[in-house]
Amino acid sequence: MPRPDTDVLIVGAGPTGLMLANQLGRRGLRPLVIDRHSGPAQQSRALGVQARTLEIYARLGIADRALALGKRATGANMWAAGRRAARIPLGDIGKGLSPFPFLLILGQDDNEALMGERLRDWGIAVHWNTELVAMAQEPGHVVATLRQPDGTTRSVAAAYVAGCDGARSAVRELSGIGFPGAPYEHVFFVADTEAVGTMVPDELNVYLWRDGFHLFFPMRGPDRWRVVGILPSHLRGRDDLTFADVVPSIRGEAGAALAFRSCAWFSTYRIHHRAAERFRDRRCFLLGDAAHIHSPVGAQGMNTGLQDAYNLAWKLALVAKGRAPPALLDTYEEERMPVARRLLNTTDRAFRLVVSDSWLAGLFRTKILARIAAFAMRRERVQRFAFRVVSQTGINYRKSALSESLDAVAGAAPDAGDRFPWLKLRFQAGGPIEDSFRTFDDLHFHLVVAGQTAPAPESAGLGDLLRIHAIPADPANDAELARVRISKPSFYLLRPDGHVGLCGGILDVAAIKRYVTERLKIVDR
Ligand SMILES: Cc1cc2nc3c(=O)[nH]c(=O)nc-3n(C[C@H](O)[C@H](O)[C@H](O)COP(=O)(O)OP(=O)(O)OC[C@H]3O[C@@H](n4cnc5c(N)ncnc54)[C@H](O)[C@@H]3O)c2cc1C
Repeated sequence: MPRPDTDVLIVGAGPTGLMLANQLGRRGLRPLVIDRHSGPAQQSRALGVQARTLEIYARLGIADRALALGKRATGANMWAAGRRAARIPLGDIGKGLSPFPFLLILGQDDNEALMGERLRDWGIAVHWNTELVAMAQEPGHVVATLRQPDGTTRSVAAAYVAGCDGARSAVRELSGIGFPGAPYEHVFFVADTEAVGTMVPDELNVYLWRDGFHLFFPMRGPDRWRVVGILPSHLRGRDDLTFADVVPSIRGEAGAALAFRSCAWFSTYRIHHRAAERFRDRRCFLLGDAAHIHSPVGAQGMNTGLQDAYNLAWKLALVAKGRAPPALLDTYEEERMPVARRLLNTTDRAFRLVVSDSWLAGLFRTKILARIAAFAMRRERVQRFAFRVVSQTGINYRKSALSESLDAVAGAAPDAGDRFPWLKLRFQAGGPIEDSFRTFDDLHFHLVVAGQTAPAPESAGLGDLLRIHAIPADPANDAELARVRISKPSFYLLRPDGHVGLCGGILDVAAIKRYVTERLKIVDR
């Protein structure tokens, strides 16, 4: 069979496609990346960058730039009936759980620019003005028909196709995969403005009304705010709508103290909640908005697409390089579909509560919601729970075929499928304390061994893909392991994406080898 023109055709250079391209580029692949638009999107769209995304950005080498460009969300101010009803502190709520224990406010355009710049370091360029128009799956490859910038078409043979092509995904439609769900009845508006008012600078401001809400997100630059809200019903259905049409309703509710100086971007949109019936059809995969769309509650959309890409990339790279069989790719849908479905359910419930027109919901929004949220978030356990859920650091793949626990895991100790916790450890006896996320790179598997002797590197059957870390006995190490409930003796085999694949008490080299050959099916080299 002739070699395909490319290992992976990535359709769509939004955040999801750019993340996938970067992750494949770092692993030595040269995917073909196309996008039907003429260049990167200019609008900020998504604004919240979650901790788990920043952890991945750190490994990609762009976290520092993201932090320098963005603003940390230090608090959320809840306003009801013209008064500040509560302030929820958000700064560092995930302290000890992540090197990035906060939500970063950074527009999607900036995120795309950072990933786009990094992509050039792997020698990969996006082919703009290039659209996927047809696709046929053949044995061993996919033939994709692309419309080129000059209007002509050409065929490309790709070993795999990654549909990162957004809510109206051509890859999904050409694969005949349904996208069940529905639109919400409300129409939303989003505006990037320069405004002055009661908003607490540099913090989130949530204005809760009997009939709805307005969110003010701080953006880069003085007095710059992203305003999001529900379009008043009398304005729905108009094609010529401008921000000026919406201003009276915002000011009517926020009071005369609010003044808008300018508006750089205004858009209205209907939100849908939908999930693809499958995330894969043989050699074609769906990621990001192509696979799932939901309300923006919780700033999860862009981040979930980035995590989809991170999950698929290491598997696709191993398969493309012949180190693992295609069966490894089955675990992409198996692991990411439940995440998407859970997200759809939770954002749907939260969203219905904040947009409901009912009298009771109005009362709840203006009289109760802010107080409950502020009261609950004063409790450390609630803070940590909320951080784990919203930051996506709590996502686990416990039910995946790649997750195996040899012994029952006690209480809150990390289990197979969990993201292995962030630790500060002395990796060498008498050596410096190091950040585990720096030591455990994401291009290898890592075997972490505590309270027992590490095995010989070649015994695990992972060849050059494995790094072994025996944690020396040391009071600082013991305290750190105890903090995350890791007992001794124990061992954890981490996948390249930092999730635990196999874990247990007493190290059993035969069990590791069995896991590698039977579950990962990796070819030792
Ligand atoms: C107005 C608005 C506000 C939003 N606000 C938020 C928010 O506050 N928080 C949040 O988390 N999310 C928000 N979102 C959602 C967020 O923008 C998406 O989740 C995110 O863009 C998904 O990224 P993606 O890469 O999967 O898809 P997209 O960003 O949609 O990128 C898909 C890319 O594929 C390309 N493409 C499509 N079809 C083809 C084809 N046939 N051939 C070649 N290329 C193709 C498109 O040109 C596009 O560049 C908002 C969305 C909108 C529209």
